[in-house]
Amino acid sequence: MKNLNTTSLLENYAAFAEPAIRNRFYKHADLEKLIAHLPASFKTSIAGYSAEHRSLNLITWGDGPVKVFLWSQMHGDEATGTMALFDLINFLSLDIYTEQIELLRKRCSLYIMPMVNPDGAERFTRRNAQQIDINRDFVKVVAPETQALKKIHAAIKPDFGFNLHDQNTLWSVCGTNKPATLSYLAPAYDKQLSTNSIRKNAMLVIAEMFKVLNPLLPGQIGLFDDEYEERAFGDNFQMAGTSTILIEAGGFRNDEEKQEIRKYYFLSILAGLDAIATAEYQEFSLKDYINIPKNDKKIFHILIHGIILEGISVSIGLNYEETPAQDGSATLKTYSIQDIGDLDKLYAYDVYQSDEWTVIGTIKFNENANFDLLDSKKTILSFKNGILASKL
Ligand SMILES: [Zn+2]
Repeated sequence: MKNLNTTSLLENYAAFAEPAIRNRFYKHADLEKLIAHLPASFKTSIAGYSAEHRSLNLITWGDGPVKVFLWSQMHGDEATGTMALFDLINFLSLDIYTEQIELLRKRCSLYIMPMVNPDGAERFTRRNAQQIDINRDFVKVVAPETQALKKIHAAIKPDFGFNLHDQNTLWSVCGTNKPATLSYLAPAYDKQLSTNSIRKNAMLVIAEMFKVLNPLLPGQIGLFDDEYEERAFGDNFQMAGTSTILIEAGGFRNDEEKQEIRKYYFLSILAGLDAIATAEYQEFSLKDYINIPKNDKKIFHILIHGIILEGISVSIGLNYEETPAQDGSATLKTYSIQDIGDLDKLYAYDVYQSDEWTVIGTIKFNENANFDLLDSKKTILSFKNGILASKL
């Protein structure tokens, strides 16, 4: 990204960060307010309606010949892509990087469809109001959100697509001890995982995105699982001639609301758009894409070393699952014990190590955490029926 300086962009990020979105639980009504006040350079239209009749909005910007379609939050509880899209809209609206914005405007036309699944976002669930996973509905097209997304794609016939998701926070990057804060993928368009010119262009754009972002998040960006899914949108849009780029937001220490990840997500999209506008991606090779480390699963949310269980010293790994609150405005985290034994080569967001642990309560594999962990009479961690009641 010769055209944009990431240090300067991070310094100025506060100017673009959309202040109305501060956690993962914003709703369709919040978005409607933002869309109603967009500057005149953005055109808006209704692309369809959700099952519960919430509007699906299409925002267009730019006059260039290269058509880029960006859509987010097909899964209602995957909120980071939408945050980053509104940061991008603010970036394009401000007069800070005028030359770069002018280049984007002349070379590209952006078609932005934020929050494809507003009913899911309302409940903070993956699925829509009909309990359908929209991203497994490409073939049957039973959900109105699926119908709208397919219709808009067919009408635009975009050259490039950005498919914006969040992944499980337990993905890590192969060969590192770190969470996969971001993952990228050029989805396959067939079972053989073939590469044609369409998919190749997506791979090369990703190679450039990785080159720009990896120094900012060293060891924390991986390639997402490359398996063909015939019911998914990315795979089908790739087949239909749109060079499709998947971005997944994963985990980052002490960033459960993804406000740090959001910055790097925004920068990833911007790096991708800049690569497309300057055609700089063509200077990259397939090797640059293939050499991006893969995702693996070698981290826990919490790892405790040196617990004496039945007279032997073991490590225990705990993970939480999130369930949305009734009103979709928070989640409840329930911790369970997911491994016991030699976990020396595994990692976690939070690691505890001591030779002097006292455990009050019971530790049982695959059951909810329900114990206190004390170190010289200080309580380090306290779990009550899976809920983390206190943490030193
Ligand atoms: Zn998703």
